[in-house]
Amino acid sequence: MKIAIAGYGAEGESNYQYWNTPENQVVIVDEHEPARPVPTDASIIIGDDAFSRLEGYDLVIRTAGLAPRKIKTDGKIWSATNEFFAQCPAPIVGVTGSKGKGTTSSLIASILRASGRTVHLVGNIGVPALDVLPQIAKNDIVVYELSSFQLWDLETSPHIAVVLMIEPDHLDVHDDMDEYVNAKANIRRHQTCDDICIYHPTNEYSRRIAMINLNVHGADVQAGAIGRYAIEDDNQVYVKDGMFMARNRNICSIAALQLPGVHNIENACAAISAALNVGGVEPDAVREGLQNFTGLAHRLKHVREVEGVTYYDDSIATTPGSAIAAIHAFSQPKVLILGGSSKGADFTELAETAARSNVKVAILIGDEANKIESALQLAGVKSVNLGSDVTMDNVVLAASQQATAGDVVILSPSCASFGMFKNYGDRGDQFIAAVNAL
Ligand code: ADP
Repeated sequence: MKIAIAGYGAEGESNYQYWNTPENQVVIVDEHEPARPVPTDASIIIGDDAFSRLEGYDLVIRTAGLAPRKIKTDGKIWSATNEFFAQCPAPIVGVTGSKGKGTTSSLIASILRASGRTVHLVGNIGVPALDVLPQIAKNDIVVYELSSFQLWDLETSPHIAVVLMIEPDHLDVHDDMDEYVNAKANIRRHQTCDDICIYHPTNEYSRRIAMINLNVHGADVQAGAIGRYAIEDDNQVYVKDGMFMARNRNICSIAALQLPGVHNIENACAAISAALNVGGVEPDAVREGLQNFTGLAHRLKHVREVEGVTYYDDSIATTPGSAIAAIHAFSQPKVLILGGSSKGADFTELAETAARSNVKVAILIGDEANKIESALQLAGVKSVNLGSDVTMDNVVLAASQQATAGDVVILSPSCASFGMFKNYGDRGDQFIAAVNAL
């Protein structure tokens, strides 16, 4: 077969290794010179319009971040995620949502491991899925963190689909909110009667995705069960009197969960629901799985206490919804560090939440500083606008000057990191270094 590997980042590299076999003729295609080294014997085509000139290939392997509409070909557009779903011998638990995917996927994996299963955690988190495919056995279980980019053209849905809260995100890449939700809906669209979709108790987009099969095929077609998590009514896991419960049965105390914030209790409800639907999971394994997982880097992580002020790194909070979750996680007076580059977000709800939730002041940085400042002014929240030309040391210094003993300072920017930082990891690392230098 003649195959084009469209996009050559970490996923493209994995794709090349997977498809570069003697029976295939493989060409790497990209708009820019790849950042990572290309194998010396590989054929490569680079050019501004390279993706729109892919006539004559049998298969075009789309890297996740590349929009399908940018590809012009008479062959089939395919992806690592599609290939993995087609070939994987084990059942797959898929997790999507705007925020909480990584945490929830990790919790599911931790609980299933504690119950003795062999678990492969793949997707956005963990390793490229095709790299682990050869090691997966029938009785293993796969937990796949699925972004809208991976779901965009997915032709198979997972056995268990978990749909967390969805809010406007990635609108710099997706055409609009409908296209974003529609891409995510592939996690549910192809489910059949043996499958289940677990969805958010109140989020309208999440509900819409859970209902999608029912709407398309009519109520008489079995499209797999649905059930909401974090609510007592739906036979999934919820919280009552400090306990995680399922069908009136105590599972374990919420104290087993090592992560801060109400949003993480909700994520845990989703994760335990998914694990119980896999089957063979006892309450002790749930408790142990929750206890074993202490959180991913840059997700509301405690950094240090300095003169009674506690600093948290939540650099991965690139949307208003995740910054709102960070605000709700602490009752203490808060100094927030907000801003960065734009993903098309609206900051009204964030500003209104800040006004109601003991936020003393917001330190604003980056391209979005002025837009956030206007929203905060309207809501009556004090802010200090430092613009883009400022170092992280000075940002942290400004925050520390506003805070007094008993306060928390949270880097939860609600924007992307580009412009001032390489990525969210770099932003978080610089924050940690600056806090440690105080
Ligand atoms: P994702 O993998 O979807 O980006 P993560 O679990 O890595 O999600 O968390 C990313 C950010 O979103 C963190 O700032 C975290 O505190 C926040 N977050 C996690 N779960 C939720 C949720 N259910 N609602 C709102 N924000 C959340």
